[in-house]
Amino acid sequence: MNAIVQQDLNTFENILEKTKQQGIDFLNNIENIPTSNTVSIDPNRALNELGLGSLEALKEFNERLAPLIVSSSGPRYWGFVTGGSTPASIVGDWLAAVYDQNTQSIKAQGGASALIEFETINLLLQLLDLPNSFLGGFVTGATMSNFTCLGVARQWFGKQLGKDFAKNGISETINILTATPHSSSVKTLSMLGIGSQNYTTVKTIKGNREAIDIADLEKTIAALNGQPFLLISSAGTVNTADFDDFEAIANLRQKHTFWWHIDAAFGGFAAVSDKFKHLVKGWEEADSITVDCHKWLNVPYDSAFYLIKKEHADLQIETFQNSNAPYLGNPLENFNYLNVLPENSRRLRALPVWFSLLAYGKEGFKDVVENSVALALHFGNALIEEDVFELLAPIRLNNVCFTLKGDHNEEKVTEFLSRLNDRGKVFMTPTFYNGRKGIRASFVNWRTKENDIAIAIEEMKAVLVDLKM
Ligand SMILES: *Cc1c(COP(=O)(O)O)cnc(C)c1O
Repeated sequence: MNAIVQQDLNTFENILEKTKQQGIDFLNNIENIPTSNTVSIDPNRALNELGLGSLEALKEFNERLAPLIVSSSGPRYWGFVTGGSTPASIVGDWLAAVYDQNTQSIKAQGGASALIEFETINLLLQLLDLPNSFLGGFVTGATMSNFTCLGVARQWFGKQLGKDFAKNGISETINILTATPHSSSVKTLSMLGIGSQNYTTVKTIKGNREAIDIADLEKTIAALNGQPFLLISSAGTVNTADFDDFEAIANLRQKHTFWWHIDAAFGGFAAVSDKFKHLVKGWEEADSITVDCHKWLNVPYDSAFYLIKKEHADLQIETFQNSNAPYLGNPLENFNYLNVLPENSRRLRALPVWFSLLAYGKEGFKDVVENSVALALHFGNALIEEDVFELLAPIRLNNVCFTLKGDHNEEKVTEFLSRLNDRGKVFMTPTFYNGRKGIRASFVNWRTKENDIAIAIEEMKAVLVDLKM
C-alpha cells in the first residue's frame, strides 16, 4: 500500500472526526452562508506527483474551494425547486458512502442491498398512498426517471405495432401528446431517439392554467384515428404547480389505448396531505410516475425514483436488460436492477430515503408539505402588500410566480432579480409565463420559516431602493 494511503488509513478516525466537525460547522451556520457568491477560481490546478493525504487536501479545499459553496440547501434558496437535507437523510447518505454497496441483485452484488431498495420503494408507496402494483427503483433525478419511464413507454408503443424498438431501433413515428412538459421530458425524447420536437402539444385550460384541456385532448386523440399514443402529463408544473385532471385522464383509458406517464417530480408530495391529495386523485391508474427525492423529500442530491406498473415488467426488461441473452422466466425472480434501468453499477441511493421515512414518518412529511404551501401563500400575500409586485398566477401549491407590476417595468425584471440574487440572502429564478418575464420562488425546503419571508421582503425592498423604484 502506498505510504500516504497507509498514513490515511492509520489516522482514519481523526480524519472522519475533522470532516464531521466541518459538516457540523457548515450546517449550524447554514442560514448565514450566502445563497450566491462572486468568488471564482482558476480550475487548472496541477496534479501532485506525491499525494497530500486527506487532512492536507481538506485544508486546501477549505482555503480554495469551500468559499465557492453556497447555501443552496439553506432556508432561503428558492430557485428552481431545491430541497435541503434533513438530519436523517444525511445519516443515510453518509452510510451509503461508508457501506459502498453496488445495488443490483437481491442475491449477489451489494449483498442484499436491492432488498433495502425494495423496502424503501414500498415505504414510499405508503407515503404517497399508491398501490403496490408499481415496481420502483432509484435513479439520479427526475430527468433520469422520465427517461426510464418513457423508455419503457417507447417499447410499449412498438409492441402495439408488432415491433421491438429496443432490438431493432425506432421504425415508426411515435405519437406523443403533452401540454406543458417539463424541459427534462423534452430532453428525454431527444435521448431516446424519438426527437425533441416530435410531440403534439395539447391546449391548456383557458385562463391562468398549465393543465391539459381535456376537450382538446379528446380532439387530438380523435385525429389519431385509433392509433396508440403516449401521454405525458403533469403533477405540478414548475411555474404555477398546476395539475392535470387525472380522473378525467383515467376515464379516457376506457376508450383509448395509450401509455400514461405522470411527471410528479415535486407535485407527487401533494398526496401526503389531506388538504392537497385531491390534486392527484386518480394518479394510481397511470402506467408510470416520476418522483424526485432531492426536492420535497429533502434528501441530498442526487435522488429520485420511478414507478412503473408491474404488468409492464417484460417491456421494462426488454428496454434495459444488460445482456444479449433472452431473459428467461419470471422477471421478478432473479431480479437485478441492472436489467430494469439505465445504470449498471449504482450506489445504495435508497438509504437516505429509508432513514428519512423511518425517522420522520408520514406526519413529518405532511408537516413539511403543508408548511411549504403555507409559506408560499404567506410570501404571495407579502408581495401583494408591497404594491410593486404582481402575481402572474394564483398560488396553487408551493410555487410563487410573480413579476414587477406594470408592462413598463418588464425590462427591469432581469436587473431586479440579478441584484437580489447577488446580495446572497435569498435566491430565486427567472421565468417566462403567459408571455411575460417573471420570477419564481419555490418552497420545498424543510428549514424555511416565516422569518425567512420577512428577510426576503426586506432584501427586495432594498433592491427597489437601489433601482430607484
Ligand atoms: C425538477 C423537475 C424535473 C427534473 O428533475 P431533476 O431531478 O433535476 O432531473 C422534472 N420534472 C419536474 C416537474 C421537475 O420539477
